[in-house]
Amino acid sequence: MSRLDELIKKAEQDLKGVFAEFERVEETGTDRVLDAFSCHRVAAMHFSPSTGYGYDDVGRDTLEKICADIFKAEEAICRPMLASGTHTLALGLFGLLLPGDELLLASGAPYDTLHGVIGTKKEPGSLMEMGVTSRAVDLTREGALDVQGVVSAMNDKTKVVFIQRSRGYALRPSLFPSDMKELISAVKQKKPDVFLFVDNCYGAFVTEDEPTYYGADVVAGSLIKNLGGGLAPTGGYLAGSARAIARIENRLTAPGIGREVGSFEASYRPFYQGLFMAPHTVCQAKKTAALSARVAELLGMKAYPASDEARSDIIQALVLGTPEKVIAYCGGIQSASPVDSFAAPEPWAMPGYQDPVIMAAGAFVQGASIELSCDAPMREPFAVYQQGALTYSSGKRAVKSAFERLLEAKNA
Ligand SMILES: *Cc1c(COP(=O)(O)O)cnc(C)c1O
Repeated sequence: MSRLDELIKKAEQDLKGVFAEFERVEETGTDRVLDAFSCHRVAAMHFSPSTGYGYDDVGRDTLEKICADIFKAEEAICRPMLASGTHTLALGLFGLLLPGDELLLASGAPYDTLHGVIGTKKEPGSLMEMGVTSRAVDLTREGALDVQGVVSAMNDKTKVVFIQRSRGYALRPSLFPSDMKELISAVKQKKPDVFLFVDNCYGAFVTEDEPTYYGADVVAGSLIKNLGGGLAPTGGYLAGSARAIARIENRLTAPGIGREVGSFEASYRPFYQGLFMAPHTVCQAKKTAALSARVAELLGMKAYPASDEARSDIIQALVLGTPEKVIAYCGGIQSASPVDSFAAPEPWAMPGYQDPVIMAAGAFVQGASIELSCDAPMREPFAVYQQGALTYSSGKRAVKSAFERLLEAKNA
């Protein structure tokens, strides 16, 4: 047995309890999904395609009812016409905010791609151009929501308070749905008509609960991340209060038309089957993340979250320390991918990013990050951000391949 094989074996032994807890959460997620499927009497007819306006598209409508139930929400939008997570989040914000309103970012600067939406990066059609202002309140030094800070930053114009659940590409901890409870009630107490909006990307099914369980008005995310279970070919979701979704659905299509139209001339089966798989797939991704964290720890590196820490998203950050190691690790992930295993990822200048970025991804669904992928901005502290894996065994193989390359780079 190689040294690395031994390390992986040791890591798996150390993680027995952690994996058991992940599997317990998977079971509760499966209950959430199957309760909704049986309640809405899912049958083969729901998988049928539709064309044109898509009036009375029972596959589309039932999928949205199930999505609402999974989040214990009143209503949901969950459909293929949403092109990405960013599109879905932008739709939600444009639905809720009007000229003169203010967007309050309660977890500091948002995910990179939202800067163009908000207008902190100049873009035609941004919220800022429309007369919506925004302000950010940073998380506390410990990475918690600053409830007092947010409440005192609220003013007459505040319409949406926005929380990003996931760590995104930062070393801050991810927020748990239960962490949002206090902020949600404090905000509602001060101004009951404010919408609490949660970017739930990478978060769905990672915990037993969701932000909507604690009164969030909207959760939103991508179907090529957690909720699509690795099978949905495209799409996004928003779930929340009837008051919020009624506004958002009028931006989805047109005021007065809302969710009544929208056809899909392919089967809805992958969306249903993906939802069914999602709790399991998320569990596979969590196990892969924890394995890489434990191996890194055994090699003396820092992992965020630590291998035995509770998780609220599927992202694993590993601080590798040098550009060579980052390139080696990402190369190892790529070479173990089912698609494009022959490609060698290299750091590249990407629009919207300050430093060159390296990305390893070899997915069946283009860009799907519920499938195993690994990215890194080429800057201090030279950390990689890894997420996803459709199966633990393929994730484990990729983690082994990545650390193999890393150890070779170290010795070189
Ligand atoms: C992925 C992600 C987004 C954007 O989703 P895209 O599908 O890449 O547009 C937004 N916020 C967070 C936290 C994400 O992880």
